[in-house]
Amino acid sequence: METTSTPTHCPYCALQCGMNLSPTPEGGVEVTERVDFPVNRGALCGKGRTAPAVLSSRVRLTSPLVRSGGTLVPASWDEALDRIAGELGRIRAEHGPDALGVFGGGGLTNEKAYTLGKFARVVLGTSQIDYNGRFCMSSAAAGGIKAFGLDRGLPFPLEDIPRTGCVILVGSNLAETMPPALRFFSELRENGGTLIVVDPRRTRTAEQADLHLMPRPGTDLALALGLLHLVVAEGRVDEEYVRERTSGWEEARAAAMAHWPEHVERITGVSVPQLRETVRMFCEPESAMVLTARGPEQQSKGTDTVGAWINLCLATGRAGRPLSGYGCLTGQGNGQGGREHGQKADQLPGYRKLDDPAARRHVAEVWGVDPDSLPGPGRSAYELLDAMGTDIRSLLLLASNPVVSAPRAAHIEERLKSLDFLAVCDVVLSETAALADVVLPVTQWAEETGTMTSLEGRVLLRQRAITPPEGVRSDLEVLHELAARLGVEKGFPTDPEEVFEELRRASAGGPADYSGITYRRLAEENGVFWPCPAPEGTFAGAPAGASAGTAEAAGVAGAAGTAGAAGAAGAAGAAGAAGAAGAAGAAGAAVDDDGEDTGFDVLPEDPAREETGTVHPGALHPGTPRLFLDRFATDDGRARFVPVSHRPAAEEPDEEYPVFLTTGRVVAQYQSGAQTRRVDELNAAAPGPFVELHPRLAARLGAAEGDPLAVVSRRGRAVAPARITTGIRPDTVFMPFHWPGEGRANTLTNPALDPTSRMPEFKVCAVRVEIAGAE
Ligand code: SF4
Repeated sequence: METTSTPTHCPYCALQCGMNLSPTPEGGVEVTERVDFPVNRGALCGKGRTAPAVLSSRVRLTSPLVRSGGTLVPASWDEALDRIAGELGRIRAEHGPDALGVFGGGGLTNEKAYTLGKFARVVLGTSQIDYNGRFCMSSAAAGGIKAFGLDRGLPFPLEDIPRTGCVILVGSNLAETMPPALRFFSELRENGGTLIVVDPRRTRTAEQADLHLMPRPGTDLALALGLLHLVVAEGRVDEEYVRERTSGWEEARAAAMAHWPEHVERITGVSVPQLRETVRMFCEPESAMVLTARGPEQQSKGTDTVGAWINLCLATGRAGRPLSGYGCLTGQGNGQGGREHGQKADQLPGYRKLDDPAARRHVAEVWGVDPDSLPGPGRSAYELLDAMGTDIRSLLLLASNPVVSAPRAAHIEERLKSLDFLAVCDVVLSETAALADVVLPVTQWAEETGTMTSLEGRVLLRQRAITPPEGVRSDLEVLHELAARLGVEKGFPTDPEEVFEELRRASAGGPADYSGITYRRLAEENGVFWPCPAPEGTFAGAPAGASAGTAEAAGVAGAAGTAGAAGAAGAAGAAGAAGAAGAAGAAGAAVDDDGEDTGFDVLPEDPAREETGTVHPGALHPGTPRLFLDRFATDDGRARFVPVSHRPAAEEPDEEYPVFLTTGRVVAQYQSGAQTRRVDELNAAAPGPFVELHPRLAARLGAAEGDPLAVVSRRGRAVAPARITTGIRPDTVFMPFHWPGEGRANTLTNPALDPTSRMPEFKVCAVRVEIAGAE
């Protein structure tokens, strides 16, 4: 047991609130306030405050389990690992490497996400890896890359929000999903700025808004087009900005002009006067932002919807300028870092593309393998899960619970049961782990060190504060042991910092360049924003494909989209030389981890430098809080308009299924609830699912508060008590998705996929609602 208070971060959402963990006399830890972390300044929601309860939960797994005679029984680690390695080897020999599926999670640390991707491609040789972050922010990522050439959830820090003039918050209930973030919006309004919330429900977040728009579910794209139409019609386009910093305007303009406000009113249900007021509030201040979350993104047209909101920002000169821009509020704890380091079906570390020959060469050299041996891109998360039991014969799953969280969940549950072999790493026996052939009990956040990347793109150090219980091992140890049993003895260290040093080299020169970041810097600087290239010459000998551009070039905000501009030094040499202290704090020479002078300058705090990102050659890069101020990360430095048009949801209400269903979260539970449903205080606050509906719909059904309602879609049926409120559209019902069983909302959801991001349409489908038992 460590004896002093340890500064660290919450295990849950992408806000990654800072907290201290202090030892208790009983040998556990308690959460205490950590005011030095600027994002939450000590504030925590109930989930963060009670997070230690999961560490000592009575249902915590502390022994591997192996299925025997249809039952999971305790087994030794050697027995469990041998069984997994044996089954994976057998299936690979019989069916080929692509019969082996791997599924990761947006809660994994950067080190684990990196190692899992490497394990799949180097040890198993499979292309069939993806992760649950596909269900989180993939549409925003795809939209950001199309428009800006780079995806970082927020291209500016949260602290910019109170200083802008107006924020349009689209489909985010952050008052419940990340309550401490609400203060940025309260401060915005105190400073005279305005908040517009777009949501079909009057959520706790919408209650804070100056203007609340309640569109029909699935019509956010049309809404953005209608706003852009009015921007043009009212002469509010920033012509100079469009000319100087963008391309593709004429096509986007023509698409928007085809969406007349009256037409948009009919599609969305948002009145023309509300559209005009939104445009006025957004365009009048000098600066403004659009922030999206899962509402507009979890749609079968999520990428285009994000594109439409970005188009609105570009036409009004609201991107790549101080205090303005488009951003995505990523949900999962490491939703950002989880998509950067190689557990995504189409990506390699450093946010490189798996089908890019230069990227393959660079990463293969770091990994010490032949680039031609690396498999190509695999299937997206839902497609991979849907293929289980067909050409996917086994699944190794970490940090995910698709029985509860996948769309069309009953179908996915059956597919999991049809596998030849399922192995799950988890801390409790989740609904998915309960189906496994082998379950491995693994360490949790407070029991291990690792890095996370928050929704701001701020890389953070989450530090070990407590000794893990007897019988559990880290995911890194699991992958090390499995690699060895499958014949790969080297390259899978169990020490997180050793993994991070390799990740630095693998990311060097990529869009998400971490090469200038060290554990020591993270601890001393309270996190570092990527891109943060290492000083030139940090790594001896640049491999082919990795640019050794100048630090000045690397530091130009927005330049990181291309390897040449990102300019991290090469990757093949010894890591660690850049591990200097206090990079941005004081002028002077930097020292390495051993106190030796590195020969690099350490720059003093300089607000002007923060704005431009300019860094002198040889200096430690301070990180890049603000992207795109000088240029976007496209080849020509211009942002790209993407012409988009309205199209309906994959499933619209009809006679048989006349009501929209939308899903979301409640403040006391997190994602599939695997952890938070094990916390008594949270369960008392949010004990189960419910069906939120408008009094008019309730009256039509003859339903009273608390009556059991059956919600039926083309995919199945869920039952939960009625919660009647005027804070929802009369044509829509809402269910939270945290629970399994009879009230499982994802039994109903539609796996119709976005053609670009492969995001399922969680946020809108057609249902009928009846009083349960009266159907
Ligand atoms: Fe944890 Fe998110 Fe709550 Fe902060 S808002 S305490 S990061 S769950």
